[in-house]
Amino acid sequence: MTAHLTVFEREAPSASAIDESLRSTKSSVFWLEDAPHASYPQLTASHTADLTVVGGGYTGLWTAVLAKRRDPSARVVLLEAQTIGWAASGRNGGFAEASLTHGDENGRARWPDEFDTLERMGLENLDAIERDVAELKMDVQFERTGTLSVAYEPHQVQWLKGAEAGVYLDRDAVRKTIDSPIFAAGRREEHLSALVHPGRLAAELARVATDLGVEIFEQSSVTGLRTRGSGVSVETARGVVKSAKVALGTNVFRPLLRRSRLSTVPVYDYVLMSEPLSAAQMDDIGWRGREGLTDMANQFHYSRLSADNRILYGGYDAIYHAGRRVRPEYEDRQSSYRTLASHFLTTFPQLEGLSFSHQWGGAIDTSTQFCAFHGLARRGRVAYAAGFTGLGVAATRFAAEVMLDRLAGDPTPRTQLEMVRKKPLPFPPEPLAKIGIEATKWSLDRADHREGQRNVLLRTLDRLGLGFDS
Ligand SMILES: Cc1cc2nc3c(=O)[nH]c(=O)nc-3n(C[C@H](O)[C@H](O)[C@H](O)COP(=O)(O)OP(=O)(O)OC[C@H]3O[C@@H](n4cnc5c(N)ncnc54)[C@H](O)[C@@H]3O)c2cc1C
Repeated sequence: MTAHLTVFEREAPSASAIDESLRSTKSSVFWLEDAPHASYPQLTASHTADLTVVGGGYTGLWTAVLAKRRDPSARVVLLEAQTIGWAASGRNGGFAEASLTHGDENGRARWPDEFDTLERMGLENLDAIERDVAELKMDVQFERTGTLSVAYEPHQVQWLKGAEAGVYLDRDAVRKTIDSPIFAAGRREEHLSALVHPGRLAAELARVATDLGVEIFEQSSVTGLRTRGSGVSVETARGVVKSAKVALGTNVFRPLLRRSRLSTVPVYDYVLMSEPLSAAQMDDIGWRGREGLTDMANQFHYSRLSADNRILYGGYDAIYHAGRRVRPEYEDRQSSYRTLASHFLTTFPQLEGLSFSHQWGGAIDTSTQFCAFHGLARRGRVAYAAGFTGLGVAATRFAAEVMLDRLAGDPTPRTQLEMVRKKPLPFPPEPLAKIGIEATKWSLDRADHREGQRNVLLRTLDRLGLGFDS
């Protein structure tokens, strides 16, 4: 089959239009700038607790909040290496999706027998978030908007026609929803996802946790776990917390348990945020339903409006650095920002002249099954969950419930799930991880240029239930 150019290559904007849009962009995370941040002290003395939570992202924060809800008298301490929500939880797209399995296709293929249960539990989880946001008066700009998936190329139109959830929209109908000359079709789904302000969600979860009596410590990196007698000592440079149970929400960072070392790889994903659109610019694009917008390419984009009508535009590039490294210098990548600006102007040529105010990147917590894995170690005293593969905004709350179920020791419908009980295959060690990920990325890009046709490598990975995604 001959390779075709993608629409982003066929309809690329001029280099000067890209330069102009990025002329005054600063490298900073809009969501973190736009969220209130309370400071929490460093751990400088020894403490005792019933539960110690490691990690101040959504996984750790939901675990602390839900632990106090289950038992208000429990002493809960949360230790964060830097500041609350600084990592993926404060810099994501804010798509809170019901899916616990990184989409229906992946869920159905891996867990066909329990997929209906997983789907129901995922929806209940998203509904629970909506309820918590209202009941706990969390100012997180929650909007149950649903999503619009769009196709640019004929083969993607066929994929959309064959999908089940939501309503199929032809070219005219999709352009009435959000107006882009490159949208050939769409599928609108109204109930299975919401949008949140990611930075505020982290800050508000920390506020709620504190109100419930959780003690939060920032700048308190955990260096080791020591199991002693009936408890676990969680060690930091300046203090130790001794507790009966520990929950780990450390995501792509160096795992504290040896068994998790090969379970995730950090894959960097990049984002642009525009200036607020004027009323006239909003009229030019429509988007009155404020849906989360995504597309059908293997190397997909995601896009959404903020409360003040900025457009966030991210995705496409997925950059892995050998050795599973997470480093501040990887959060900035000019060539990815230029690619995103170019694709944005191809999508919305009517917005030429709009500037991007912010640019940033973050590490996606990729696992070989494309969704979180859950585990229990140290004779039932340490629970962990990680590997959300870019879909953790809502799934982290479910993972928190699983960790608390498991630490409590009694089986629940959640802990009985095969998805929860079984571990995904690990990524290989270096240099195989880097070679394998680069070959997969190359193959995915080729598929986008060849009407979606998957090559031998992708078909083999599909058969083995292995893969790489962001
Ligand atoms: C650019 C980008 C866009 C994304 N978009 C979406 C989206 O639209 N929708 C979606 O569902 N998901 C999205 N995701 C994924 C989502 O953000 C994550 O799955 C989710 O935030 C994971 O939360 P977490 O708490 O597990 O991890 P994190 O937010 O990474 O938090 C982990 C925390 O643990 C701390 N920590 C690690 N090790 C230690 C230690 N030893 N001691 C103390 N603290 C430690 C870290 O400092 C960090 O604060 C995106 C991710 C990125 C990067």
